[in-house]
Formats: sequence, structure tokens, C-alpha cells
Amino acid sequence: MQSRNDNATSETIVFDSDDAGLAKAADILAHGGLVAFPTETVYGLGADARRSDAVTGIYTAKGRPSFNPLIVHVADLAAAEELVTFTPQAYCLAQAFWPGALTLVLPLRANAGISSLVTAGLTTLAVRVPDHPVAQGLLRAFGGPVAAPSANPSGRISPTTAAHVVASLAGRIGGVVDGGACGVGLESTIVDVTGDPILLRAGGVAAEALETTLAHPLIRQSGVATITAPGMLASHYAPQGTVRLNATQARAGEVLLGFGSVTGDLTLSASGDLAEAAANLFDRLHQLDAMGAVAIAVAPVPEHGLGAAINDRLRRAAAPRH
Ligand code: AMP
Ligand code: MG
Repeated sequence: MQSRNDNATSETIVFDSDDAGLAKAADILAHGGLVAFPTETVYGLGADARRSDAVTGIYTAKGRPSFNPLIVHVADLAAAEELVTFTPQAYCLAQAFWPGALTLVLPLRANAGISSLVTAGLTTLAVRVPDHPVAQGLLRAFGGPVAAPSANPSGRISPTTAAHVVASLAGRIGGVVDGGACGVGLESTIVDVTGDPILLRAGGVAAEALETTLAHPLIRQSGVATITAPGMLASHYAPQGTVRLNATQARAGEVLLGFGSVTGDLTLSASGDLAEAAANLFDRLHQLDAMGAVAIAVAPVPEHGLGAAINDRLRRAAAPRH
């Protein structure tokens, strides 16, 4: 147990990811509580997406501004179809990439029963089918839509292990299901498919792969965001130390986070593998915090494939703090 506030629970239970653990975690969700769980992207902080009292808990536990809408997680395409109206291009992407690290923004169905706190009042909903056996098991045990942003305090580094979750949210949530380290390690790619597909956030599925499937380019959102959300604000994913990008060597007092031929004090991927770097990114930032690094230099990461999402996170980590 760490900090307490009016909404804090007294104890955060760490559940095994077996059937018994998933049943207990689902029971917390069924009672309007908060449970963190592993997905292939990062650990999510889940609540029943139909209950405003439960969803309020997410915003409170994370210190997240309530104008920032949440992604709803469901077990399969059929469950998603109950919540949103699919467009042809949405079907095309869902068939190719679900279950997986792709979130689709689509028109919310009138009778979907989703709390308006999830959508922050928008007429669209962000929905995803995760490809992780523990997330799938929890969704099936619970049997309803689960709103789940990353399980970290707003603006801080996303969690890729149960220990990361416990370190920042213990005492503020009902439990966390321990399913080991996340495989992808970056948040989902978000595409608005209400019309011509718009890339809202780079993430665990490379934009190039989406464009190949759609057979035409995604619209890249530049400048004017349709919504204002911390994940799209300049400073996010921030470690305690300052961050300097595109560094090939450390300056005095800096800890160097390497990639490929830039060795560093620790590395995203010694072999220069982007998927490995993605899986390691948030864990390395957590490690730098644990080391007490006050100045962090980061090696250049190429901008293609998953590198685009890695660099997006690194730029936000490096941005001036508010
Ligand atoms: P997180 O849950 O922290 O991964 O962040 C979810 C992100 O999904 C938000 O920051 C928004 O950028 C995006 N999002 C959620 N719902 C919508 C929506 N209806 N329209 C556009 N973007 C959305
Ligand atoms: Mg997040």
C-alpha cells in the first residue's frame, strides 16, 4: 500500500494469471472495481466500461484529465460490433490485425450502453481486441466491455510488467493480474476509420503494415488534433530525468541509453532490432528512474516501422514538462 486518498482501496492484490486468479479479477470488475492486466502492448487499468462509477475510478487512480477518452477492450469482433458501427475499411483492418495492437475509432452505437465518461462525450468510440491470453481470459471471464488506459499515473512511463504497476498504483486499485512482461511494449496504433482512415497515434502495429493492407496511405494527423489528449500532448511518458535525443555519446553526468552500434550504459537493443527496442523501451525508462538518472541521453532510432512509434514516445519523454 502506498498513498491513500478518498478513492483509494486499502490493498492491491497481485493475482496469478490462472483461472482462479482471472475469476477473482473479473469479480472485482463486476463490482465496479479497478484491475490492471497484461496485454501485448502495455498493462491496462481496467474497469467496466458501462459503469460511470467504475470509469470514474480510472481517472481518479491515474490522475487523468476526464476530457481524455479511453479505449474499450473486447474479446472479439462480434463484441466490438455490438458497440460501434463498422465501415468497410474498419472490417478490412480488423480482419487483418485483430486480435492485436490496433485500436479502431468508429461511430458509437446509440444503444451500446457505454458510459459517456469513456468517450469523454464524443460520438465515437475507440475499441480494440487484445492478443494476449491473459487479457482474453479476463475479458471472457468478465463477459463485458472493459475500458482500459495504460496502468500508470497520467503522464508517466507506461507499465510493461506487473511490478511497474504495483510501483506506481498500489493502494489505488483493487488488483493486478501478473502475466509477465508485455511482448510488444508500445501502446496500440490508433486509427480513426469513421471516414478515410486517419492515423491518430503511432503504436505497436507499424503504419506501413496498415497502408499495405488498405492499399492506400493513411492520413497523418498534423497540427490540428480532433481531440486533446495527454497521449497527444508534447510531454508524456516522462521519466524523472531530462531526456536528450539522437545522442551518440554521453555528456558529463548523462546516462546513455543505446541502440545498435551506440552501446550506451544500457541499451534498447544491442542488435538494432526495432521490435526488441519497442519491447524494452518503457522498462529501460523505468530502470533509468530506478537508477536515479537525472540526465538521460538516447541513441538515434531509425524512423521506419516500429521506430516511428518508439521515436514518438521518446520525443514526448524529451519534451519540456508542464
Ligand atoms: P490510452 O488509453 O492512455 O492508451 O489513451 C487512449 C487514447 O485513445 C487517447 O489518448 C485518445 O488519443 C485516443 N482515443 C480514445 N477514444 C477516442 C476517440 N473516440 N476518438 C479519438 N481518439 C480517441
Ligand atoms: Mg497511457
